[in-house]
Amino acid sequence: MVIEDEKDIVDLLAYALRKEGYEVRSATQGREGLELIRRGPTDLALIDIMLPDLDGLEICRRVRTDENLRNLPVIFLTARGEEVDRVIGLEMGADDYVVKPFSPRELVARIKAVLRRRERGEERRDVIEARDIRLDPRTQEVIVRGQTVMLSTLEFRLLHFMASHPRRIFARENLLDQVWGRDRFVTPRTVDVHIRRLREKIEAQPDKPRFLQTVRGSGYRFTVESSEDAQA
Ligand code: CA
Repeated sequence: MVIEDEKDIVDLLAYALRKEGYEVRSATQGREGLELIRRGPTDLALIDIMLPDLDGLEICRRVRTDENLRNLPVIFLTARGEEVDRVIGLEMGADDYVVKPFSPRELVARIKAVLRRRERGEERRDVIEARDIRLDPRTQEVIVRGQTVMLSTLEFRLLHFMASHPRRIFARENLLDQVWGRDRFVTPRTVDVHIRRLREKIEAQPDKPRFLQTVRGSGYRFTVESSEDAQA
């Protein structure tokens, strides 16, 4: 599903994606696009941020709060500059974003990466429960200290991966390989950004993290116990 108000970009995308064998539906208005997504079936949505009626961030928010759509892969199409900061700053739960102007080839590679990640993610459906945190991959919900916290797909995947290997230290590169996958277009700094965001969402004191600890010079690890307990 492509939601983009610039007809030229829609045409370009539709052409490139059909050539790759994807079926493409498109809308030039936000509400219309959201309606088409709801009518489904939709495997992935490319959503422009600046739209005349309902903006891309709002569409994504509504998708994420919709029981049937919350796991829909979303890639934002953004203009340069400010919008990218907004996307990163707000983290509206998109799986990725591309900055205009982009090459169709790059976009197709990102779509494949997101879909592949999604397939892999679906294989890892174990509920993780330890002390005061519970991760449920089926709903992508984290319950921490009795509160339900909503994470983006990528945040959840990162947390779930680390929580599946408690106390193990992961270097940033390692996490990029395991969580973002081979087709990533991101740098180790991306890991720091996601860890920081996760801490803000799940830690009682984000500046003194209990779950997601920094191991200086090495990377990060997930723990649920105090260090004494973990030794036992
Ligand atoms: Ca636009």
